[in-house]
Amino acid sequence: MHAHQLLTRVCPTCDGFPVVSVSIGARQTDGTLPTLAVVCLDCAGTGTRTTVRPAPVLAPVGR
Ligand SMILES: [Zn+2]
Repeated sequence: MHAHQLLTRVCPTCDGFPVVSVSIGARQTDGTLPTLAVVCLDCAGTGTRTTVRPAPVLAPVGR
């Protein structure tokens, strides 16, 4: 029996979209828009977060 339970969930910060492009300037003469790829800091670009849920504490039942 595992003492901990690994949970993989969609990153709550980026909602599963870990890399976004942000425009960093005006449109250039050739029609392109300079962009910068920004990676989510919380999930480091994976889009998911793995958390460890501690095992539930079994409290003794009183009589
Ligand atoms: Zn994220």
